Amino acid sequence: MAEPNILPLPFAQWGLGLDRPLLIAGPCSAESREQVLATAEGIAEHAPQVKVFRAGSWKPRTRPGGFEGAGEAALPWLAEAKERTGLLTMTEVATSAHVEAALKAGVDMLWIGARTTPNPFSVQAIADALAGVDIPVFVKNPVNPDLQLWIGALERMYAAGIKRLAAIHRGFHWFERTPFRNSPMWEFPVRLKAAFPELELIGDPSHIAGNRQLLAGVAQQALDLNFSGLMVETHIDPAQARSDAAQQVTPSDLDGLLTALTFRSPKAGPTLRDELQEHRDLIDRLDEEILQKIAARMEISERIGRFKQAHNIAILQPERWRRIMRAQQVLGKELGLSPHFVQALMDTVHDESIRKQTEVWEREQFAPGFQGMGGNGTGIIPRDEGTS
Ligand code: PEP
Ligand code: MN
Repeated sequence: MAEPNILPLPFAQWGLGLDRPLLIAGPCSAESREQVLATAEGIAEHAPQVKVFRAGSWKPRTRPGGFEGAGEAALPWLAEAKERTGLLTMTEVATSAHVEAALKAGVDMLWIGARTTPNPFSVQAIADALAGVDIPVFVKNPVNPDLQLWIGALERMYAAGIKRLAAIHRGFHWFERTPFRNSPMWEFPVRLKAAFPELELIGDPSHIAGNRQLLAGVAQQALDLNFSGLMVETHIDPAQARSDAAQQVTPSDLDGLLTALTFRSPKAGPTLRDELQEHRDLIDRLDEEILQKIAARMEISERIGRFKQAHNIAILQPERWRRIMRAQQVLGKELGLSPHFVQALMDTVHDESIRKQTEVWEREQFAPGFQGMGGNGTGIIPRDEGTS
């Protein structure tokens, strides 16, 4: 992969009077002039800490037949909302026609949705439509957990000349059922931030949680991870919303939510730093211990590999692995670890263990003096299922 080289500007240098934490709110969809204006005015009245009003004009729906947004007709409503409240406006674009219409209508900022980010052709078409245009763009993570696609979309925007560029973390579609609509998989935004420390990263707890109950917890987690702000779907009458009804809050509930959150300073002061340093030192030690333990475990795996090789036993023992996994899940639950984390960790350990044993197998097999035992040479196929 080419070296990523984007250096986006921080909010404070966007020339729009913005700073961290940047708070964005507004309905999932712009449904009608009345709904847009009432929501924007409600936000301005109840939650003045919000600086940007979001509303989807074109809604990508998984299946046809749902409400697909008011389209271009919604754009003048956004302009009117801005005129009345002073809030900056923001809408989603997925095609070059959307970009053209949004620019013509004077929308202040754009975002690229989670269903568009994974398609390089669409992202490039948007980038081409934006070449030479100086407008802030927010790139949501792709629906699928693929960091490279997220980075690629950011790079395409940057290459088109967009320096006022930010990312939005809205969680990932995951095949296992979790309490969330979209799994947060915090390691992805954390890795993105590690790759681009300058990049402003906004949390979208609404699309992660998928319901009002989990919203505050997810929002706080994002802030604890030093996110640059939040985008919260807000509707004047959430129960009547034509998309994402379960996750939207009223403007006054939005204020309650934002007021209850703890906004941490991006860089802790001196006394806090000492405490932070202590925790970090501890974490570093624990990480070392984890690696030492894993290395010890792999050594035993190798021994087992040699034993299996000598006694012609297949490397892969699915039933035993399932037993281990069940036991680890029970233990993980007792220890407060998420099933997803335990599964992913154990899968990684298992993969490495199999790799080590296969290595042993092949080394021994091709060692001088080896008599030949049949099989396909991979070591994974049991001998009695071999071809000779
Ligand atoms: C939205 O912000 O309403 C939206 C469609 O989000 P996402 O692209 O994250 O699903
Ligand atoms: Mn939505």
